Amino acid sequence: MGCQELDETILRAQLRKSKLIVVKVGASSLSDENGRIDFEKMNSICVEVSNLRRQGIDVVLVSSGAIRAGKAIISDSIKNNEISSLQAFAAVGQVLLMESYRDIMAGKGYRIAQILLTWDDFRSKTRLKNLINTIQTLLSLGVLPIINENDTIAVEEIKFGDNDTLSALVATHLGSDLLIILSDIDGLYNGDPGLPSSKLISFVPEVTQEIESLASSTHKGFGGMKTKLKAAKMVTAMGIPMVIANGRESGILERIINGERVGTLFGPRVKNEK
Ligand code: GLU
Repeated sequence: MGCQELDETILRAQLRKSKLIVVKVGASSLSDENGRIDFEKMNSICVEVSNLRRQGIDVVLVSSGAIRAGKAIISDSIKNNEISSLQAFAAVGQVLLMESYRDIMAGKGYRIAQILLTWDDFRSKTRLKNLINTIQTLLSLGVLPIINENDTIAVEEIKFGDNDTLSALVATHLGSDLLIILSDIDGLYNGDPGLPSSKLISFVPEVTQEIESLASSTHKGFGGMKTKLKAAKMVTAMGIPMVIANGRESGILERIINGERVGTLFGPRVKNEK
């Protein structure tokens, strides 16, 4: 089947067959307006992940939020935004992030595991093999792997990096069936999302230059739409569909998996032969 011709309805319906999905959660979907971890928000993400696990779907979470959470706690002592400060924020915040995930997921009967990665880990065949083996083992044990960038040692990552790209790399190397990027926005818009005239684009069969030009009008935070489109290009080239959706919408993960028309779906460019 020529994938360019695959239409949205068919592709969305195929999402039901997903067995392994990578879900990226942005800091805004996990923190309150002061940057502190918002347990209610984190809980709703965890409820959804547990629901998918109960349906036999393996989930790997890529979670941001360490820098923001750390900053909210120690920014009184550190006022600047230098790399070393961001790294310190990340070191403090990562603990808070994982503590919160551990407590919330334990309440739902699941253990979690922390995996911190840098780009170098993807350049080394041995490390990559170990990473994949570890994730597969964790999944076989029913443990939820939670991945973040190892911000404390990765200067480049803090400056230019983002978890959108990281989640795309993880999804690709794991050969996952789907990448879902949860953000504070419903998906990709055909104009400035702040304007009432802008419409949500439900399906992107190919990330063309025209589509990429839409990213410039958005955004804030580390990622923004540019890096999400870069992630979409990476995974769809490997035959993996991707959905950008709003992490604040209740039941969003299940709705996506059930083929509902939510968020923006990016169609795979080639068939994923697993
Ligand atoms: N790794 C960063 C953090 O945990 C976030 C990067 C991103 O949001 O893309 O704060």
